[in-house]
Amino acid sequence: MRSPILDYLDSILTATSGISSGETAQYIPELAAADPSRAAVALCTVNGTVYASGDADHGFSIQSMSKPFAYAAAIEAHGLEAVLERIGVEPSGEAFNELSLDPVTGRPRNPMINAGAIVAHALVDDGGGEGAGRMLDLFSRLAGHPLEVDEAVAASELATADRNLGLAYLLHAAQALEVEPRRAVTGYIRQCAVAVTVRDLALMAATLANGGVQPETGERVFGRGTTRHVLSVMTSCGMYDAAGDWLTSVGIPAKSGVAGGIIGVLPGQVGVAVLSPRLDAHGNSARGVEMMRRLSEDLGLHLMEASRPARSSLREVRTEQTRAGTATVYVLQGDLVLSSIESLVRALVESPPPTAQVVFDMSRVDEVLPVARRTAAETAARLIDEGHRIAIIDPESTVPRFQDSRGRPVDRWEGLTAS
Ligand code: GLN
Repeated sequence: MRSPILDYLDSILTATSGISSGETAQYIPELAAADPSRAAVALCTVNGTVYASGDADHGFSIQSMSKPFAYAAAIEAHGLEAVLERIGVEPSGEAFNELSLDPVTGRPRNPMINAGAIVAHALVDDGGGEGAGRMLDLFSRLAGHPLEVDEAVAASELATADRNLGLAYLLHAAQALEVEPRRAVTGYIRQCAVAVTVRDLALMAATLANGGVQPETGERVFGRGTTRHVLSVMTSCGMYDAAGDWLTSVGIPAKSGVAGGIIGVLPGQVGVAVLSPRLDAHGNSARGVEMMRRLSEDLGLHLMEASRPARSSLREVRTEQTRAGTATVYVLQGDLVLSSIESLVRALVESPPPTAQVVFDMSRVDEVLPVARRTAAETAARLIDEGHRIAIIDPESTVPRFQDSRGRPVDRWEGLTAS
């Protein structure tokens, strides 16, 4: 049976097939000559399942979609603080190839524009030889198989790199870039020329969606904190001077590239990637933006969409005969987060358990957030202070042993196994 998800992705391509506005990137001859009719879309879940439609095996250069990954690598190599001293995190409101520097610190405004990306590249790769391979190796681990530099694209961009060279020389003069400018730009351009497909990109994006763990290989490529930071910067700066429009209409962290690709990340759920080489005035794929807008709307991906409120943690309260006598049993369920545990706390506060023995049945609980753990432990401490005995039915032992409100371990605690 063919997956309806594939049919859905086909329908995205069909519905946007009439969009032919914009033109291929004219300032890089090899990209200017790209076939503008190429179109593809791919989606990868955090479980590593990839769905793709259209020219999904067509290779094209990653371009600026490499920037979030290079930035993440710089953070992993030097630590966030050191990187923040070199590159800001403020949207520039200017085009990607402007020299957008912070007027006070002289740092590039952010790592998604070329100025910041050249500095980020140089922080990982000083052009010392094995360096070019370092980004390639990283991107290959993210895609789950060996990638290669498209030498024709790299040569074409190097031959017309005046603007990026200009940025790098100015950054070098301002001591914002330590590596020799030509070396830094050569490495950065090779980073941008790595050939990928939308399938590769969907996996790379899904690694960010998955908190930094590549969903197919299970390799932790970036730390959780690094990933969250990079996604935040993608959200505010990933679409350059169209970032505000993007955030309101599509609403997911994203990054575009001048070869016509766009990646998007829905944290905890999916990575998506689209390709269509014609660019709008901001340098973002014109049809790609519309494909993303539809994906976001149809799949409910917009980050600011109020999600379904967490189900109440309290499934039922009942009185039961136990080995320890009559007990009030609180049956909990789902994820224990602050909004879901509130109903349990309210029930306990408004109508305290009538029996000395209190049982919390945790066998239907999935995940316990630290705030819920703390609130539960405090609630339990108060019940204990009031003379209740507490028992937990917890097959996976997701809660700590209880203490009273003065922090003394409580012996009136009893672990019961689910019967
Ligand atoms: N390599 C391109 C450049 O530096 C990347 C720009 C982009 O994809 N927006 O101009």
